[in-house]
Amino acid sequence: MKRDYPLEKVRNFGIIAHIDAGKTTVSERILFYTGSQHKIGEVHEGETTTDWMEQERERGITITAAAITCFWTRTDEPDKSDKSKKFRFNIIDTPGHIDFTAEVQRSMRVLDGAIVVFDGVSGVEPQSETNWRYADDANVPRLCFINKLDRIGASFENSYKSILDRLSPKAIRVQIPIGEEANHEGVVDLLTMKGFTFSGNMGEEVIEGEVPESLVAVAKKYRNELIERIVEQDESAMNMYLEGTEPSLEELKKLLRKGVIANEIFPVYCGSALKNKGVQLILDGVVDYLPSPLDLPPITGINPKTDKPVERHASDDEPFTALVFKLQTDPFVGALTFFRVYSGTLSAGSYVYNSMTNSKERIGRIVRLQADKREEVEQVFAGEIAAAVGLKDTKTSHTLCDEANPIILEEIVFPEPVVSVRIEPKTKADQEKMGVALRKLSDEDPTFRVSSDEETGETIIAGMGELHLEILIDRMKREFNVVADTGRPQVAYRETILSSSEAEHKYIKQTGGRGQYGHVKLKLKKLEQIDPEAKIPKNVKREDHFEFINNIKGGVIPQEFIPAVEKGIREAMARGILAGYPVVDVSIDLYDGSFHDVDSSEIAFKIAASLAFQEAAKKAKPVILEPIMKIEVIIPEQFMGDITGNISGKRGAIESMEERGINKVVHAKVPLSEMFGYTTTLRSMTEGRGSMTMEFDHYDVVPQNVATDIISSRE
Ligand code: GDP
Repeated sequence: MKRDYPLEKVRNFGIIAHIDAGKTTVSERILFYTGSQHKIGEVHEGETTTDWMEQERERGITITAAAITCFWTRTDEPDKSDKSKKFRFNIIDTPGHIDFTAEVQRSMRVLDGAIVVFDGVSGVEPQSETNWRYADDANVPRLCFINKLDRIGASFENSYKSILDRLSPKAIRVQIPIGEEANHEGVVDLLTMKGFTFSGNMGEEVIEGEVPESLVAVAKKYRNELIERIVEQDESAMNMYLEGTEPSLEELKKLLRKGVIANEIFPVYCGSALKNKGVQLILDGVVDYLPSPLDLPPITGINPKTDKPVERHASDDEPFTALVFKLQTDPFVGALTFFRVYSGTLSAGSYVYNSMTNSKERIGRIVRLQADKREEVEQVFAGEIAAAVGLKDTKTSHTLCDEANPIILEEIVFPEPVVSVRIEPKTKADQEKMGVALRKLSDEDPTFRVSSDEETGETIIAGMGELHLEILIDRMKREFNVVADTGRPQVAYRETILSSSEAEHKYIKQTGGRGQYGHVKLKLKKLEQIDPEAKIPKNVKREDHFEFINNIKGGVIPQEFIPAVEKGIREAMARGILAGYPVVDVSIDLYDGSFHDVDSSEIAFKIAASLAFQEAAKKAKPVILEPIMKIEVIIPEQFMGDITGNISGKRGAIESMEERGINKVVHAKVPLSEMFGYTTTLRSMTEGRGSMTMEFDHYDVVPQNVATDIISSRE
C-alpha cells in the first residue's frame, strides 16, 4: 500500500495553554474550520454551524482526545477542493491544568511543533512559563497566539512584551490587532501588509483588505523589525537587505520557516477565538512555518541487543519504530493506545514487538480520531499518529518496533507524585470496582500512582497535587460509579544525606548446621548532579536518584553476591533513615568485604549491606526533604499586606510582585505542606476576589524544628 499523504504535508502539533487561556475554544474553532472546509464540495447535510458546535460540545469527547486528525488548505488557496493542496494536521492534546504538567511533558515528546495560546489580558502566566520550558527542553518550534483581544483590559502590546520578557526575546510580531477590547475587528498581517477581518456566523469567511489608515505607520515599523529578524537567518539575504533589496515574499516566508524550525524565531499571532477572529490565519502559519516530520533530525534509540545507539529517519522504508504516548478510553471504540510512528509502517491485524516488555502483541484495528468520526485505517506510515485497538500489555512510553530490528526509544520521564491520600470505598461491594477503576486511571496517567499500605492494607493514591487527586476521585465517581471516602492529603517527603561517611557490617550466624556469612564495607556520599552526557564506567550503575559503584577487586565478594548487596541497600533506602520516607540522591561505593566458602549466601549479604547502609547514612547528616511549590497569587491591591504576611507565615519566600491590570500579582515559593486548603483561605481573605495557581518546583531540606515534628508524628 502506498501512503495516502505525502510526508511534507503532515503537521503534528499541539496547542499549549495556561488553563482558561482559551485552548478549548481555539481547538473547537480549528475543528470547525477544518471540518467545514473539509465538507466543501460535499452534499450539504442541513447542519447549521451552531448545531455542529452544540453536538460537539455535548459529546465533548473529540476535544479531549489524545490526538485528533483534521485537514487544512491555506486560506488564500483559491481551489479548496484540490487535494494536492491539503495538509493533514494531527493535533496532539496537551492538558492546560496546573497539576498536569507531566502530561504536557509527555506530549512534547511526540509533537513536532506547537501553538502556544495566551490570554490577551493576563499575558504570560506561570503555567505558560513552565510549559515553555518543557517545549525548550524538547526543542519544539512554536507559534504564539495572543487570544481574547476582545476582552476588556486586553492588550496585545503588554502580552507581547510579557512573552519577550518572561519567555523569549526570540518572539516577534507577525501580526498586530485591528482594534482591541470592544473594537477588536481583525488583524494586520505584517509580512503581506494586509488587513484581515472575519465574517459569517462563525467567522468562516476570511476577508482580505487594506491595513486601516491609523495602523499603517506602526505596522510599517513592526514590519521592518520582523524583516530584519528574518534576514538574520541567512547571510546573503542579510547583505542584500542591507544594500537595500528586500527578499521576495516567498523568500521571506522560506527564511522565516527556517528560523522557526531552528527555534530561532517564535512568530506572534493574535485574535479572539471566541469572537471568531484570527484562528484560520494561525492555521496557515502551521502550514507555512511549523515543521513536517521530514524537517526534523532522525530519532535515536538504543538497540537492546547490542546496547548501541541506532538512528531512524522519517521514512516508510526503514524498520517500524513507534512510541506509545497515551492510553485512553474512547466511548465508541474502547481502549486506545496512541502512538507516534517515527519510521516504517504498521498494518492492522499484524503483530508488533514491544521492546520494553520483550513481547509481541497483535494490533487489532488502527483508528484515527476525527471531529465527526473514527476512521479505521489499514496501515499507518512514518511520521503519522494513530491509535491501536486491542493492545493489552503496552503502556505509555513503551517502544513498539520491528522484532528483527529492535530499538528502545528514550523513555518519557514523568515527575514523581508529591501528594498522597488514603481512600476507602464507601461500601464493601465497591472494593473490587474501585480496584478496576484505579488501575484504569493509573494506566492512563503515569503521574497517578496507586499502592497499598503494607501494615494497614489501605489503598493509597498519589499524584501531582490536591486538585489532581480530587479530579481523579471525581472521575472514579462519574465514569466508574465508585464512591470513596478520602483521608487527609499527605506530603510525599523524601530523605537524603548531606555529607559522606563509611560503614562496615559483618553479618555472621554460626549456630550448628549451615551458618550465615556476609561482610561488606561501603562508602556513602551525596549524589551530585551529573552531566547526563558523561560516559558511565562499566562498574557503575546510575539512575536519577541513585548510584551504585562496584569497586570490589580480586573477588573478595564473589560477583554472584553483588546484586544481593545492591538489593539490601535499595530496601534500606526505601525504609528511610529518619522518618520512614524513601532515601534519594545517594552514591554508594562498595569497596571491600569478605566471604565464607560455605556460609555465605545472598540473604546474608543483603542483610549485611542493608545494615551497613543504615549505619553509614545515620553518620552522613541525614535530612528530610519536602516539595516546594511555586505559587502565583492574584489579588486586588488592598489585600496585598494580608496575603504577603500570610505567605511569610507559611515559611514562604516572596520572590517578586508586579501589577497586572488592576490587580497585584505575588510570586512566591512555599512548602507544599503549608498549602493544603489554601484556595479556601485565599477566598475568605480576599472576599472571594483572589485567585492563585500552584505547581511543583523542587525538593528542599526541611528546617530542623519542622523535621522534629514530622519525625515524632511518624512514631
Ligand atoms: P481553556 O481552559 O484554555 O481550555 O479555555 P477555554 O477555551 O475553556 O476558555 C476559557 C474561558 O474563556 C471560556 O469562558 C471561554 O468562553 C473564554 N474565551 C475563550 N476564548 C476567548 C476569547 O477569544 N475572548 C473572550 N472574551 N473569551 C474567550
